[in-house]
Parts: sequence; structure tokens; C-alpha cells
Amino acid sequence: MKLIIGWLYPDLMSTYGDRGNILALKYRSQKRGIEVEIKKISLLEVAEQLKTVDLIFMGGAQDRQQEIVNRDLQKEKGKYLEKLIENKVPSLFVCGAYQFLGDYYLAADGTKIKGLRIFDFYTVNPGLKAKRLIGNIVVKPLIPSIHDKEIIGFENHGGRTYLANSHMAFAKVIKGFGNNGEDLTEGFRYKNIIGTYLHGPILPKNYFLTDYLIKIALEIKYQQDIKLPPLNNEIEERAREQILKNVL
Ligand code: GLN
Repeated sequence: MKLIIGWLYPDLMSTYGDRGNILALKYRSQKRGIEVEIKKISLLEVAEQLKTVDLIFMGGAQDRQQEIVNRDLQKEKGKYLEKLIENKVPSLFVCGAYQFLGDYYLAADGTKIKGLRIFDFYTVNPGLKAKRLIGNIVVKPLIPSIHDKEIIGFENHGGRTYLANSHMAFAKVIKGFGNNGEDLTEGFRYKNIIGTYLHGPILPKNYFLTDYLIKIALEIKYQQDIKLPPLNNEIEERAREQILKNVL
């Protein structure tokens, strides 16, 4: 079996260790004999490349890079992304990448960056008028199959995201700020796409979420039930225990 991972704008959208998500997907797939190809898709690549991917990842960035990337997304790639999302291709969008999917992102300098408007939410960055939302974060995922484990991460964002429908949140905040520091919602989810503020990077810290994405990507691609062979997660569990002890 083979997975093609589309890594969007790795040269512009990649902060706070986001690259580790690609490494985790690759590592846990290869351990099970699944071949992995990473396709880097940035400003110079054509949008058609997106047609061939089985899983999508895009990391976060600061406002300046977001403006550059957004101009490119609005041209053609955004439309392709919307189609992939509707076709249930699993996708992980972190922080600045997540903010693109909504109605708009009001940047710290007051510039309104028009979103892809795939989902009903918006983000406002009050800039110096309020503090950035920074720190370790623990959330409880609202995805039924992985509902029983805490998701650990690190967040650093000025933007506050407000969902039109809080039932569409990816998770509930246990410790930290999440979407806006007010309503305990974290991220967004629809079909197999996850939008989240969790850097960390999120996937190495939460191996079961990595497996969840690999499993659905294979199921969608090969149109059959997939049972991933279990891996030894002893070290990962010990690291998680320690982080949870420190953070909670
Ligand atoms: N620039 C955005 C914000 O501050 C996203 C930051 C990020 O991706 N870490 O809200």
C-alpha cells in the first residue's frame, strides 16, 4: 500500500515544529510497510498536483506569510482543496492554515484576509490590544473513535476564531485557550478534515491521531476497512504522561 501526502506550502507555512507532523505520518506508516511519498506543493507547483494526494497537511505561519499564501490559494488551489475535503480526503490544517478555511482572518495590522469560505467561522487578531494565546494546551477530541484520550499540544496565536456552530469543534479545551480563550472550543472538524490551533507538533505527541489519519487515508484510497497493525507506543505513552503531569 502507498500513501501520497500533500504538504502544502512547507517553505512558508511551517512554525513551531509543524514539520514533525510529516515525520510522524511517515514514520508510523513506514513501520507498517506502507510506502510514503511526500509531495511538497507551494507557490510554484500547479494546483492539479493536489488531485493525486491521499492526505493533506498544512502548518501555521505569521500574518505576512499568510497573506502571500492566501493570494495563491484564492487563485486555483483553494477550489481543489474544497473538492478534496468534500471527497473526504483526510486533512490536517494547523493554526494559520486553519484560519484560511473560514470566512476571513482579520490580521493584527487590521488587514482583512479573505478566507476560502469553505466553513462558517471567522478569525480576528486584536494585535497589541490583547495578549497572544500562548502555552501548552490539552484538549479532549470530539471525534468518537479517539474520544477517550487527551490531545496534547502547544499553541501560539493572536487570532481568535469563532465558529458559527460550536458542535463543529474538533475538541473541548481542558487546559489552554483553543479557538478564542472564551468558549472552550478548539479547532474545527468536518468529514475528515481537522482544523486546529495545536502546534507541538500535534502528531508526534498524539500518536493515535496520527494513526487515525493514516487509517482513514488508506480506507478512502483503497475503499476497504483497514486495521493498522499495532505499534509499541511505550515511549510515546511515557512522554505523554510526563507532559500531562506538567501541564495539568
Ligand atoms: N498569524 C496567525 C495568528 O497569530 C497564526 C499564527 C500561527 O500559525 N502560529 O493568529
